[in-house]
Amino acid sequence: MKTYSVVEILGDGISAELSRSVHAVAQALPCRIEFVPMDLSLESRQRGGSAVYDRCVEAMQRVGLALKYPTTTTTESPNQILRDRCDFSVIHRPVATIPGIQNNFKRTIDIEVIRVATGGTYDDPGMRICDEAAVSIRKIEKTPSRHAARFAFELAQRRGGHVVSTSKWTIQRATDGLFEEAVDEVRAQFPAIQHRRELFDSLLAGIIMKPERYSVIVTPNEYGDFLSDSACGLIGSIGLGDSASYSFGESGRVKIAMFDPAGGTAPDIAGKDLCNPTAALLALANLLGFVGEERACAALRKALLECIAKQQCTRDVGGTLSTSAFTARIAELVRAELG
Ligand code: ATP
Repeated sequence: MKTYSVVEILGDGISAELSRSVHAVAQALPCRIEFVPMDLSLESRQRGGSAVYDRCVEAMQRVGLALKYPTTTTTESPNQILRDRCDFSVIHRPVATIPGIQNNFKRTIDIEVIRVATGGTYDDPGMRICDEAAVSIRKIEKTPSRHAARFAFELAQRRGGHVVSTSKWTIQRATDGLFEEAVDEVRAQFPAIQHRRELFDSLLAGIIMKPERYSVIVTPNEYGDFLSDSACGLIGSIGLGDSASYSFGESGRVKIAMFDPAGGTAPDIAGKDLCNPTAALLALANLLGFVGEERACAALRKALLECIAKQQCTRDVGGTLSTSAFTARIAELVRAELG
């Protein structure tokens, strides 16, 4: 059996239950996952200070793969610290319709948002220059844009889709123009993958009117942020999704990949066997796809979607199952599917 080492970053609230669920499902897989636990809970951070991050980042750099559960943000944001220290420059956010989840959108959507995680307007809070005006500098860099583009083309190759790059290059000619230039350079290395550019405003309308025209979308930081959350709104859930962050080496290959559920720590239901582990299990599925365990990835996604569609799920999405009962059902389906 193939073995993968994965740094497991434990956090707060429902983190322990999500971890138990991931471990139970991992037992049902045709590969072995060797978890390397790192405690980033508030208590551990308060006790250990920055040494806790040092150990965690060192393990992530050594192992290259990580699964992170929600952490409480107080005076510091662990997500921000990990992003800075691991040099995460690309964020991947898959957004797909989940049959059985109520939403206001009649169509099916299945897109992968690849977002440059650095620069854009987010790196500069700006400056007031007088009572009536403020300025900020919007920086776009070619290297992270190339990384995002390469990731997008490789993903499209894997899933058999095409790539749309989106920005406002006709107005932000220097900055978004540079981003699109980086995409074009990478595109030349993937002659078999179709690519088109769309202006960001027109893409938003396009996704609502003709969602089937989109699969992999690559875009600068702030547009990616707007797009991921609004697409999650279309499928009726921000909390059920997962995301992944990537840093890259000199060669352009992924150096660290970190997968995490999008939701928060849900302290109100922590420890009650009530939380929905779907996003954490989708993060595990994405990790499996990333390492090339495509069958296991597909089986896990299928099991999750089937159970939710039949309302064999936790209470937050209309079911009656506890976290552990839902997890056991998913593990059983995955085992059955993979023989
Ligand atoms: P944080 O500060 O970590 O964001 P929060 O409670 O402010 O925590 P969320 O964790 O996003 O914000 O929770 C918002 C609501 O959604 C809560 O009522 C919580 O119980 C619910 N919720 C969040 N995650 C889950 C989950 N995995 N399963 C079921 N309910 C959840």
